[in-house]
Amino acid sequence: MRKSRLKHNLVKFGLTGLLRFLNKNPRVIFYHGVDFAESINSLHINPDIFEQQMIFLLKHYEIISIHEYENRFRTNRFTGREIVVTFDDGYKNNLTLAAPILKSLNIPFTVFVSTNHIGSGDYFPTAIARIIIRYSNLSFLKIDCLKYSVTLKDSKQREKVCEAILRVLKCCNIQLVNEICNQLIANVSPDEYEELCHIHKMETPMNWTDVIKLHTEYDCTIGSHCKDHFICNIYQTEEDIREQLQGSKQIIEEKLHTSCDFLAYPNGIYRKGDITNYALTTAAEVGYKLAFTTVQDRLKSNTNAMLMPRCAARFEMDDFITKLVLKPNFFKKKKASKYL
Ligand SMILES: [Zn+2]
Repeated sequence: MRKSRLKHNLVKFGLTGLLRFLNKNPRVIFYHGVDFAESINSLHINPDIFEQQMIFLLKHYEIISIHEYENRFRTNRFTGREIVVTFDDGYKNNLTLAAPILKSLNIPFTVFVSTNHIGSGDYFPTAIARIIIRYSNLSFLKIDCLKYSVTLKDSKQREKVCEAILRVLKCCNIQLVNEICNQLIANVSPDEYEELCHIHKMETPMNWTDVIKLHTEYDCTIGSHCKDHFICNIYQTEEDIREQLQGSKQIIEEKLHTSCDFLAYPNGIYRKGDITNYALTTAAEVGYKLAFTTVQDRLKSNTNAMLMPRCAARFEMDDFITKLVLKPNFFKKKKASKYL
């Protein structure tokens, strides 16, 4: 039986309720954006589906704030039904589309922002690469700092070039990432870049006025996602890692006049080397109470507070429901702690 059919049948025959009962574990789920337009990178969920998902969570789980989650983690008081709703990066549509839905349902949420993008309005490196390589009128692309040039042809070939550049972006220090972005943008005219950004405006980050509004007018906690959507891996210097973790926390605290206690590592897969040991010890040292990965492990009583699990929310409703009951890995349950 195909996986999608299996998921559909699990939902149809009401088996997810049983699985939900059997597979209790607190879950922190994450989204990126919420938008009506089709996303260039599957990061933005349709608002109507997002609302349906929130209504579903209210019915079947206990949605709590990240502060309450931290409190229950510290005091070991989980029931296993908890859900924390989070967003990564800090897109403007978090304020314009997601926040009103969450407010109407009384749902607390957390947005992890990359503070330099909030300050500059610059699109994220992966978005820049995608919109220029996939959608520009370019027939030839040149990135001098990588000694790379390529003729752009059909969409299939463009996709391959795009994937290659995205892979390179993950293995560069922050200075080189910025240089690659500048050189990607320099391939097209300012007018074309502006037009591309307008077409893909769902990639627009919030500004500080937006972030302050989100924090003051909604039940929203602002956490850090580093200064530059910075991947805390071995390609970065320890000095840069410290600055990204500490500097982003400081500016959030200055702008919002509140402590910034939570971090979500960009591309946070610890096992793949996205987070060095230096990064996680530094995250604790500079004062984060919890730091989140993008790994959907089970939460245990001895889980490292600087390596907390999170689960990416699926967009399609049956997928969303079944993933929540099957992840974190159901079959590892026996090894789990008293967190159920
Ligand atoms: Zn991110």
